[in-house]
Amino acid sequence: MYMMKCSNEENFLHGKLIPYGNIELSPVAGVLNYGQGLFEGLKAYRREDGGIQLFRPEQNALRMKMGAERLCMQSPSVDQFIDAVKHVVIANKRFVPPAGKGALYVRPLLMASAPHIGMNFTPEFTFLVFSTPVGYFYKGRPPFDLFVEKKLRRAVPGGTGSIKSIANYAPVILAQAQATAKGFSDVLFLDSVNGKYVEEVASCNIFMVKGNVVSTPALHGTILPGITRKSIIDIALSFGYQVEERMIPVEELLEADEVFCTGTAVIVNPVSTVTYENKRVTYNIGKEVVSHKLYETLTGIQTGRIEDSMGWTLQVNVEDFASKTNK
Ligand SMILES: *Cc1c(COP(=O)(O)O)cnc(C)c1O
Repeated sequence: MYMMKCSNEENFLHGKLIPYGNIELSPVAGVLNYGQGLFEGLKAYRREDGGIQLFRPEQNALRMKMGAERLCMQSPSVDQFIDAVKHVVIANKRFVPPAGKGALYVRPLLMASAPHIGMNFTPEFTFLVFSTPVGYFYKGRPPFDLFVEKKLRRAVPGGTGSIKSIANYAPVILAQAQATAKGFSDVLFLDSVNGKYVEEVASCNIFMVKGNVVSTPALHGTILPGITRKSIIDIALSFGYQVEERMIPVEELLEADEVFCTGTAVIVNPVSTVTYENKRVTYNIGKEVVSHKLYETLTGIQTGRIEDSMGWTLQVNVEDFASKTNK
C-alpha cells in the first residue's frame, strides 16, 4: 500500500510504498472522532495483451480534491494521486486478474490523522492507497430488486452527499439491512426535501430508459457525481440516445421501460423490479435492453477490448517508474 502525510501548512510531498498492514492512529485523530475523511474507488484492468490500464483516474483525483475542500483538508495533487495509484497497481500487479475475469480494485483514502482533539484545527492528513482483486459482479449477480425507502434519507442539500465522504454510508446501513431482510437487493433513496424525487441507490447512481430517452437525476448537491454515471451519459449520447439530467419523480420511474444502476463496483447493473408503497413494478432486462449495450461498450473500453476513442484509459507501465527512480 502507499502512504503519504502532510501537515496543514504544507502540501503533500513524499509518499512511499509500505507493506500492507495495520496503521497507527492517535485515538483523537479527526477521522475517528469526527468522520473527517474521504474515500475513492477505481479499478485497474488487465488487457488481452497482458498490459494493465486505469479508467479515468484523474476524475477520482479531482473528486477527492473537491471533497477535501468541503471537509477542510489538504489533498494530494492530481499527479500525486495518479502516481500513488500506479505505484500500488504495479506493486500488486500479480493480483490483477486476467482480462475479462475481474479487476484490481484500488481504494484511496484521505483522513485527518493529527493527534489533536480540537475540531477546527487538524494539522496532519494521511493519504493511503490499498488494493484488492475483485471479480465481475454483473456476470454472477442477478438484476437488482430495489426497495424505495420512504422514511430514512441519505443526503441533504448543503450537506456532504455529493462528495465521497467516509460518513456517507453509515446512515444507509439501517435502510439496507431492513430492505435486504425483506429480500430486496438494495435501497433507492428519495430526496430529503419533498420525499418525492429519485436520488440514488446506497452506493450507485440510477438511470431510467423510456423510448429513446435515457434519464438520470440531476446533480444538485445530494447525489454522488459518479464517474461511471458521467461515462454512461457520454456513451448513451454517442449512440444517439437523448440524455436528460433532471429531477425524476418516483411515479415516473415506475412508468419506465428499463432501469439500471451505475458505479465502479456494480459497473452497469440492470434493475428488474422497483417496489414503492407495496407496489412492485417490473422492467425489461436481458440482452436486448439499452443498459446491456452500454455495459458492453463501457467494459469494452475499460478492458481495452474496444478502442478508446474517448481518451479515458491510462496505461500503467512498469518502465514509467523504473526511469523515474533512476533520475
Ligand atoms: C462511489 C459512489 C457512486 C458511484 O461512483 P463511481 O465514480 O461511478 O464509482 C455512487 N453513489 C455513491 C453514494 C458512491 O459513494
